[in-house]
Amino acid sequence: TSAHEGILRRQSLRESAARTYARSLPIVPVRARGLTIEGADGRRYLDCLSGAGTLALGHNHPVVLESIKKVIDSGAPLHVLDLATPVKDAFTTELFGTLPRQLAEDGRIQFCGPAGTDAVEAALKLVRNATGRAGLLAFTGAYHGMTAGALDVSGGATDVRVTRLPYPYGYRCPFGVGGERGADIAAHWTESLLDDPKSGVPTPAGMIVEPVQGEGGVIPAPDSWMRRMRRITAGRSIPLIADEVQTGVGRTGAFWAVEHSGVVPDVMVMSKAIGGSLPLAVIVYRSGLDVWQPGAHAGTFRGNQLAMAAGAATLAFVRENRLAERAATLGARMLGQLHGLAAAHACIGDVRGRGLMIGVELVVPDAAADVPPPAPALAAAVQRECLERGLIVELGGRHNAVVRLLPPLTITDEQAVAVLDRFADALDAAER
Ligand code: PMP
Repeated sequence: TSAHEGILRRQSLRESAARTYARSLPIVPVRARGLTIEGADGRRYLDCLSGAGTLALGHNHPVVLESIKKVIDSGAPLHVLDLATPVKDAFTTELFGTLPRQLAEDGRIQFCGPAGTDAVEAALKLVRNATGRAGLLAFTGAYHGMTAGALDVSGGATDVRVTRLPYPYGYRCPFGVGGERGADIAAHWTESLLDDPKSGVPTPAGMIVEPVQGEGGVIPAPDSWMRRMRRITAGRSIPLIADEVQTGVGRTGAFWAVEHSGVVPDVMVMSKAIGGSLPLAVIVYRSGLDVWQPGAHAGTFRGNQLAMAAGAATLAFVRENRLAERAATLGARMLGQLHGLAAAHACIGDVRGRGLMIGVELVVPDAAADVPPPAPALAAAVQRECLERGLIVELGGRHNAVVRLLPPLTITDEQAVAVLDRFADALDAAER
């Protein structure tokens, strides 16, 4: 329709060309519910991007909408900086109820808001403050946000204070071995680097890790590797920061992804789903690290009442309805079906994921290669063909050749079948 076209045209004139989502997904959402988005042109889409993993309960879930209305109707102030309020108290209590026991009992919370990247900044600042050290350990292909400090620890950055370590990417293993053995070598490499005085790496302020790399291409770290990172850091008094911005709130089949390995980090970074669609970001950390001086960490938007209410409602709903378990079962089934699809398509190099955080890595088939080269052009074509068929997917990975599926945890069995049917059709069409 002309309204739809007009909105797209005006936005593309006024908005920076860097706005990546609108570039690859030229839709104009006007209504949404659950998995479904309706565009200004009247078309409906199944949304497997979910606000980049934000919408644990899908769009406009009734309990989320109710929780927001309740705050508004109560006459509570919408903005109070970071003062104590009943809404904040309820959110914090609900959040602590979901955390690994040691953090629930001993943890301190710092509201950082509004975005995930703000919480990452706070985490880096916290460990630097607490240890008096400057260096950081981060991983290849990592994504922690777009502000200066978060960028420093994201893949590709070159800050001299950051030491880049190999992430256990089994499929494109940096050591050419693959699988758990590749992860073992990566861990060993990390250990030797820290222990070799000639490496020139001074004891760092902290290590920051995603239990499953999201933007980096949906790469779950083996549990044994996560435990090894915990031992390596604990043994050297290096605080371990787990970035659970994307993996949290049931997404990977556990409430927090660190639960899979049993690792308890010193700092947990949380955002996205904890705000129930609204911006909210926090860190929770061991009380021993709580050495902030008064005023050492400030910010105007650290107490969004609506986000905390929506977040508390979301956390409670996920807990009460065991949506993490649901994500584990449905995710495993979807992975199984995708493996079936891979058997019939040489262009699917790898299918991987955890819970409802799923990645399909597309490649240029090459029988002679151990690991065929990535296929970013095909991935872009698949994304376009998916959109044609009313399915929204996102791309990611080192080469932008990984199709990512992040449906809401509330997706039904029938909807999951529809998603995979459309994906299979789109793949056929893109291959032609
Ligand atoms: N950490 C991780 C693991 C993320 O996936 C993201 C966002 N994709 C961020 C941090 C940054 O969050 P935000 O975009 O809200 O700044």
